[in-house]
Amino acid sequence: MRKPLIAANWKMHKTTAETRDFITAFVPLVKDVEDVEIVIAPPFTSLAVAAKFLKGTNIKLSAQNLFWEEQGAYTGEVSALMLKDVECEYVIVGHSERRQYFGETDETVNKRIKAAHAAGLKVIMCIGETLEEREAGKTFDVLKTQLEGALKDITAHDMLVIAYEPVWAIGTGKTATPEMAEEAHRFIRDQLAGKFGQDAAETIRILYGGSVKPENVASLMAQENVDGGLVGGASLQPDSFAKIVRFKNS
Ligand code: PEP
Repeated sequence: MRKPLIAANWKMHKTTAETRDFITAFVPLVKDVEDVEIVIAPPFTSLAVAAKFLKGTNIKLSAQNLFWEEQGAYTGEVSALMLKDVECEYVIVGHSERRQYFGETDETVNKRIKAAHAAGLKVIMCIGETLEEREAGKTFDVLKTQLEGALKDITAHDMLVIAYEPVWAIGTGKTATPEMAEEAHRFIRDQLAGKFGQDAAETIRILYGGSVKPENVASLMAQENVDGGLVGGASLQPDSFAKIVRFKNS
């Protein structure tokens, strides 16, 4: 039985004061939720304040990226140890915006996952096809390549969450239909079974990401292989993110 996981990816949004205000408003809205794992990924600058205000709540903290070296002359980078130090439990790796704007590749995603796991951080690893790739009928090829490259020599499947995020659905208001999401998630689970074995693959959460909103979350979550959501825009307001977390009530 996979516990649903709903994660907020705030991207480059919210100052420390806005982070504090969000958490203060959000915590009471979800404090009774036990059957969904809730994760918030603020920008680096808000992690420490988020950790302070999330202490003792049912909400976990994630970073949005990390660098694979432990320390050194890497101006502007943040290590796994630094994320542990501010009480992160998760880190997002390989988001399509990082692939698109910052040159992230499956190889560098793989290095980041290894560094995260070595430090005891759980990883939310993002994969997904562009519109061009989908229209050319290459969706499964792309997902297979991304999974193979990013998961090379990774063994800690219990520290891994996959987020299927079709690039054409991120921040565009376009959502994959529940059937499209299920088809991709089923494919991903089969690939995970090939790598980690069927029993392990059945335990790995596969999140859907791409314009998840209070109005569409329940139909996505009703799919057998959709185990949660990675939410961008709709996670920035406490009431809208709380409605998504409480998808069972909608
Ligand atoms: C995301 O940030 O991963 C995302 C899916 O964004 P949005 O929900 O805004 O499409």
